[in-house]
Amino acid sequence: MSLYPERTIAELKELRELTADGNGAQRVAWTDTWLQAREWFQSKIKGLPVKHHYDAAGNSWTTLAGASERTLIIGGHLDSVPNGGWLDGCLDFLAGLEVLRRFSEEYAGRPPLTIRLVDWADEEGARFGRSLLGSSAFAGTSSIAADRVRTDRDGIRLEDAVARCGFPIDRFPDATREQKNAAAYIELHIEQGPVLESMELPLGVVLGTKGVERHAITFFGQEAHSGSTPMNARHDALAAAAKLALEIRTIAGKHKDAVCTMGSVKTFPGIVTAVVGRCETTLDQRDLDAGILAGMYREAQEASQRFAREEKCTVEWSRIWSIEPIAFHPALLGFCEEAVREVAGTAHGLPSGPLHDAAEVARAGIPTVMMFVQSLRGISHNKIEDTREEHLAMAVQALDRLASKTARWILA
Ligand SMILES: [Zn+2]
Repeated sequence: MSLYPERTIAELKELRELTADGNGAQRVAWTDTWLQAREWFQSKIKGLPVKHHYDAAGNSWTTLAGASERTLIIGGHLDSVPNGGWLDGCLDFLAGLEVLRRFSEEYAGRPPLTIRLVDWADEEGARFGRSLLGSSAFAGTSSIAADRVRTDRDGIRLEDAVARCGFPIDRFPDATREQKNAAAYIELHIEQGPVLESMELPLGVVLGTKGVERHAITFFGQEAHSGSTPMNARHDALAAAAKLALEIRTIAGKHKDAVCTMGSVKTFPGIVTAVVGRCETTLDQRDLDAGILAGMYREAQEASQRFAREEKCTVEWSRIWSIEPIAFHPALLGFCEEAVREVAGTAHGLPSGPLHDAAEVARAGIPTVMMFVQSLRGISHNKIEDTREEHLAMAVQALDRLASKTARWILA
């Protein structure tokens, strides 16, 4: 066996050395540091019997051609958030590189099926607020008209930033061509949450990515003087919003993996001497089950109306964004469970709260599965993001086993 997980760990450190500063990783997509990371990757595939190209949306493809054109894709992303960690995205990608090397060596450069390694462009959406940009172009779910005019903090438009890197946005839809011959997609990722650590498990099987309902909710009351307005005569928009902020705990609490978050509250006029006349809030609800998600959305709406009435206010909802839950492929889930069990002893299944490129690939109809490795303290998108090195090594081994099992299934 020619799999060297310690090489993956060494390469992760090398990349950190090259692209992080005192505040963490700085590989924000479409920036020079990101381009530098991609350039560095080129030095890693020199000498391997592979072909490399960028697709129309800037996704980086490394192809090890096999006897069959049927293709197993292994993916990750080299881009990071500003002040990011050393593992998010690049662990998946560099572990995939190690698996590709193993296939190449075991089959003297020509495995029975084709193996492709993809570095998705702009998974994080850190600069323009548009996550999964490259993988959604691949899946054919991207929204060019809405995306091109997005701007970063300096007012630079997304379409100009991607063109500067050589990828005009009008050609992004051509990235769907890369779906040709794709038989399965696998992705390893750090959990970015506390579940595996709390269960003392190094690895987990990702059942799917949770669906999201994201709404703006505004309560309307009556601005009034804080000194002269008796308590029972108030139309306090904040009081109604506050009741909802507590109620969503009960709504989510009825379901094992559901989460509900009110992450933003703005009050108007927002001064110390006025009852709040208008309160703008946001609600983000997630679950792996579409029925549960729809039920939580309904319950939150009903609760908001009840609290608005109680506080003599009114309430309005408007949807910001939503995506359906995506369950991963049953056969691949089985292989992932076997791989995790073989390497770690026990296999626990858990949903992913964050979205990943794998969700877009699954939306394209390609059988997909993900594996998680434990995150220390559950922290990510931060320079203190970390995972024990022995767990990283186990993750590379388990990904390799998952790749072999999936390859046999593809060829069967
Ligand atoms: Zn990531």
